[in-house]
Amino acid sequence: MSETPNKTLRWSNWAGNQRTGLVFQNTPETESELQQLIQSAAKNSLRVKAVGSGHSFTGIALAEQQLIDLSKFGQLIAIDQVAQTVTVQSGMQLAVLNQILDHNGLAMQNLGDIAYQTIAGAISTSTHGTGAKFTGIAAQVLALRIVLANGEIADCSATENQDLFNCARVGLGALGLISSVTLKVVPKFNLVVVEEPMRVDELLINLDQHISENDHFEFFWVPHTGWALTKRNNRSLEPVKPMGKMSHWYAKTLMENYAFGAVCMLGRAKPSLIPKLAKALPASGRNEYSDSSFKVFASKRIVKFYEMEYAIPREACAEALNRVRRMVGDSGFFLNFPVEVRFTAPDEIPLSTASNRESAYIAVHIYKGMDYVPYFKEVESIMNSYQGRPHWGKLHFQNAQTLAPRYPNWNLFQSVRDQVDPKRMFTNAYLETVLGK
Ligand SMILES: Cc1cc2nc3c(=O)[nH]c(=O)nc-3n(C[C@H](O)[C@H](O)[C@H](O)COP(=O)(O)OP(=O)(O)OC[C@H]3O[C@@H](n4cnc5c(N)ncnc54)[C@H](O)[C@@H]3O)c2cc1C
Repeated sequence: MSETPNKTLRWSNWAGNQRTGLVFQNTPETESELQQLIQSAAKNSLRVKAVGSGHSFTGIALAEQQLIDLSKFGQLIAIDQVAQTVTVQSGMQLAVLNQILDHNGLAMQNLGDIAYQTIAGAISTSTHGTGAKFTGIAAQVLALRIVLANGEIADCSATENQDLFNCARVGLGALGLISSVTLKVVPKFNLVVVEEPMRVDELLINLDQHISENDHFEFFWVPHTGWALTKRNNRSLEPVKPMGKMSHWYAKTLMENYAFGAVCMLGRAKPSLIPKLAKALPASGRNEYSDSSFKVFASKRIVKFYEMEYAIPREACAEALNRVRRMVGDSGFFLNFPVEVRFTAPDEIPLSTASNRESAYIAVHIYKGMDYVPYFKEVESIMNSYQGRPHWGKLHFQNAQTLAPRYPNWNLFQSVRDQVDPKRMFTNAYLETVLGK
């Protein structure tokens, strides 16, 4: 690889709503190439952006001058089955990591609902799954190696460069270019899954029980109906009983992707049909099966959409969701995507969306090509009253002034940023908005 910047075509993210202008692009394969690129960008005063899989909906991964594409920076560095740790180059996709761990009798403690992200991209935006006893992915990190704006490499962990470590686990790409990530993993396990519709009013009355009785509980409220589709995943070491190939294809590929996509397309063409179409969703019935954890956590996503997700204190979940339901009923919005609700344990990472509080996550979606602004703004105004923290990789309308009071360790992040990137090599327009200049 040449360290000289190459001109490239424009880049866009997965959802297609964020696009760069013409930028320099390089695709490093080794840490020394990465370091040379940063040193050369520093000499030329270029703004640098690392790009993982481009699965963020916000402009967080938008390069303005120098794009560093990490698609060839995804090698395994070390795995220790006894200590249950793994170290990988930062551009490794979670799907690849899951396979490596599985072959070694190991697994990630928890995951979100897809595995297309890179490990560095996932932690940088505070990516999470569900499970009130489990944190997001960033809190599973034991150590990082980061190329800083001055071209030096910093090793950091709970015992070395602690402030940098704490902040860079959810660093929004603003503190440096993460070269490698060491994770604490667990012995591999299976998940027993029960998926079934429930009346949403009843579900909310028994919410605490659902959350505490299941390792990983989540649900999807279907707008224009009184139904929620629930998913209860419980950890098990019993042999797996996966869905048959045909049932899996029917439920996960046909119904959750192609049929759902067709329904969304129909709804986009004729929004007034959406409430009728929505009534068909809860009829999707009950599924019970078990499989390896990583196969259950993450699934295929073919239908494209825009998303906003807010973390709020867990105890406010039922009230906040009921306000969203009333708002949808009163607003005249036609919504063809369910509202997803998940839960996580707190952590102590300054800009983690679960920083210092048990969290519920309420996520709203709009099919690609439809106007998301009015709906997302209404939901956001409800989340504001709970000190809601937006997912850094999902759409929202906040700025540094509105966000600062929502994070108890906001100032620590800002002072680490000032120390390691005083000239703001790693900023872009999105980061200027949410973190300040
Ligand atoms: C279909 C879909 C499903 C999703 N499901 C979930 C979910 O279940 N839970 C959830 O929480 N989120 C979810 N997300 C959001 C997604 O997990 C995040 O946006 C995540 O950041 C994407 O990872 P990426 O590799 O694509 O990173 P990108 O979007 O490419 O980058 C994100 C940020 O990470 C930075 N970055 C990347 N690599 C490095 C590096 N080496 N060093 C420093 N900074 C770096 C980038 O500069 C940028 O700031 C979903 C998104 C989509 C599109």
